[in-house]
This record gives sequence, C-alpha cells and structure tokens, in this order.
Amino acid sequence: MTIERPASHLFYVTRLRRPLVDRADGIYFWTADGKRFIDGSSGPMVSNIGHGNRHVIEAMKRQMEKTTFAYRLHFENEPAEELARRLAGKMPGDLDRIFFVSGGSEAVESAIKLARQWAVATGQSKRWKVIGRFPSYHGGTMGALGVTGDLALTETFAPQIQPMPAIPAPRAYRDRDNLSMEERGLRYADMLEAKILEEGADSVVAFIMEPIGGAATAALVAPDSYFARIREICDRYGILLIHDEVMTGAARTGRYLGGDHWNCRPDIVTMSKGIGSGYAALGAMAASSRLVKPVLDMGGFQHGYTYAGNPLACAAGLAVLEEMERLDCEGNAVRMGTLLKGEMEALSKRFPFIAGVRGKGLLLGADLVADPVTFQSLPKAKATNQRLVDLCYERGLIIYSRRIRGDGIEADNFMLAPPLIITAEQVGEMVAILADAL
Ligand code: PMP
Repeated sequence: MTIERPASHLFYVTRLRRPLVDRADGIYFWTADGKRFIDGSSGPMVSNIGHGNRHVIEAMKRQMEKTTFAYRLHFENEPAEELARRLAGKMPGDLDRIFFVSGGSEAVESAIKLARQWAVATGQSKRWKVIGRFPSYHGGTMGALGVTGDLALTETFAPQIQPMPAIPAPRAYRDRDNLSMEERGLRYADMLEAKILEEGADSVVAFIMEPIGGAATAALVAPDSYFARIREICDRYGILLIHDEVMTGAARTGRYLGGDHWNCRPDIVTMSKGIGSGYAALGAMAASSRLVKPVLDMGGFQHGYTYAGNPLACAAGLAVLEEMERLDCEGNAVRMGTLLKGEMEALSKRFPFIAGVRGKGLLLGADLVADPVTFQSLPKAKATNQRLVDLCYERGLIIYSRRIRGDGIEADNFMLAPPLIITAEQVGEMVAILADAL
C-alpha cells in the first residue's frame, strides 16, 4: 500500500523524502504503509532502552497530569531533583552537580562556558581556549562547532565560528609503524602536551574529547595507555578535562559512561541522547562543586536554557534510568555487543572492503576501504557508504554512516548501534540484512 502524501513544508539536511513513521516497539519501527524497519542505529544512538517502554510512558502520563512545565528559576521540581541525585551517583570522582539542558549541543555549550567562567572566577582570565580533536563531533551550535573536527560541517560557517586548536584523534589501529598499541596511545596523548605548549599553557582552559569516538570516527577506541596520560597532562597544566559522553553515555558502550572502561576522572561530563532515550529532549552536564562553587559565588553561572530541567523531561529521564537498570542495559550491551562485533569481524573477512572493526558494547563501527591493509579510502565518486545505507534501508535496516574529510583524512565508515535491549535472535536478523546489502 502506498500512501499519497502532500508536499512537505519541512526540511532538514536534504530534501529527500522518507517514509512516514507510524509506530515503534522495542527495536522496530513500522511506517504508515506497513513496512518494518530495524532501528540499527537507535536513531542516532538515542533509543537506548528501545521504543514503546510502558514504564516510561506511564511515568510520563502521571507527570503530565500534575505539571509538564515549571520554569526552573521560579520553581524546583521533584523529578529534576531526583534525576540529578541519581545521575550524580553514576558520575566518576567528585562530579556531584548536574546542570540540565535539552540536547547534546546545549550540553557541550554549557561545558565550554562553565570552563571559561570557572577560569574567570578563579583569577585565570587569560585561559579561554578549548583544545579539541580531529576528527570529532560535538554539536551543531556555534560554540560546539568551534571544537568539532569535521570540515564538511564547519567550513561554510568559518567566519562565524571561533575555531579552537585540535590534535588528531588516535587512529592507532591504522598506523603502520613498529610501535606497540600502548606506545601509540602515549604518542597520541603526548600530542596534547605539544599543542598546549604551542598555544601557550596559560591560554588553554580545557581539553574536550569523546571517550570513544562517535559520529566522526565510527566508534574509534583509543589504546588503554591514552587515558591516564591525557589526565596526567591536563593536571600538569591545570587544564580541565571535558568528556563528551553525549553518544557514549547511558550504557551505550556497556558501562554507564564510556570513560568508565578506563576509570577516567574527567572534570566535566556532557550527556544527552540515551538519558532521554527518545522519550524526552534531555541533556545534562555534570561537574564538581569545586568548579561550580566559584562560578556561583561570582554571581551565578551566566548561562541557561528556558526548557532546562522541566518536570516532564526529567520524569521521563528518571523512568528511563530505572528501566536501564531493570533491563540490565549495560550487561546486555556487553553480551550483544560481543556477539555483533564477532559477526562484523566475520563480515570483514568475507568482504575485504570492510576493515578496522571496532567499538565497545553496542557502539560498533568499521571503515569502508579500497585496501584493508593500507586503509586506503574508496574513490570519492562512488559514495559507497551512502550506497550501503540505502541498500540496508531498502531491506528494512537502518544503519549509520558518514564520510569524513580534511587534514589528510578521507574516510568512509559505518556504525551499528541498536537499542541496548536487542536479543541474540535480533542481532542475527540485523546481520543477515547487512550481509545481503554488502
Ligand atoms: N556530542 C556528541 C559526541 C554527539 O554525538 C552529538 C550528536 N551526534 C552531540 C554532541 C550533539 O548532540 P545534539 O544533536 O543532541 O545537539
């Protein structure tokens, strides 16, 4: 059955029309004309607890009967208080203060501004630069774009962006040298120190990184040695370490935070996506009282968003967190992630244009290459990544893919990141479609 649809007044990235969604349940979507899709990328890594969760829906209904919105500067609300308490309990180290926002970009803006205002409040007003990594993705707003390493997204807006210094993200799996992985990890981390010295240590306020690379690098995992060395360097120069956990947080990689795999101790954590799991537009920044106190003492954090911490979004976030624990999303992400990664490795043996299978939990990715040894990229004109996405789409599987370019890198990749409630049978279903498309 094909449904006739009027011309659309909407636009997003392109003018491409997509099927009209009707309903969703678990890992599946159904369109208005009855076709089923597997949500193989959790609608870019948002729907961590899956669709149609009754506990969350009921909790939201109860909250809607009471109040959906109360402006945060007029009233406190119980769901926000409780969610902040629960999230603080999941943060590393002394990160005990939570600032709510409505999305990932807002969380990153908040982190950049908190870092800067902390510097001013503590008499270090020369410090303002935030070093980022290339490639990386931190959001679509101007401040977040300033630390985003992706020329395709930043080039046009260059006159309006304050571009920040960047170091390469550690693509150690592609390097062909005589170093061990651990040595490569240290080599990439030491690039931070070199960059700090180049910029002038007293001008840098923070370093921002995704603990496991997301959109720009397709689940890039750094060698274990990287993390402790990064912390060491930040400490040496009094620089704040910001972990952008917007994609990696909320159990996506098999631990509550991506950085938990290495017992990381960031100074600021940003989150969104999975904490609302698609039930609410919700984001959060976590920081320690150590950073927040001087800022509040200075007369207040000069930043905020109208919808922040609204009771409906927070009630949804709270119910999502309860379900994430009840359904053991961390454990299932590890179990199903191991299974799916094994299947991807098998596919890369069968199809030599897939290389560098990587990731943790259910944030998995691979490169599409012309040569699996040298990782030489595919010819530009072929747009192989888009072709793969389309072929999967036709077969009812949604996967995520990007082409990243700039700074000597030209690479196609794709990611698989289904809801964390996926079963082994459903993993098999996904892989069968992917294999057919490949
Ligand atoms: N940071 C990271 C690591 C992300 O992956 C994203 C979204 N892909 C963002 C920030 C921005 O989040 P949002 O799209 O919700 O603004």
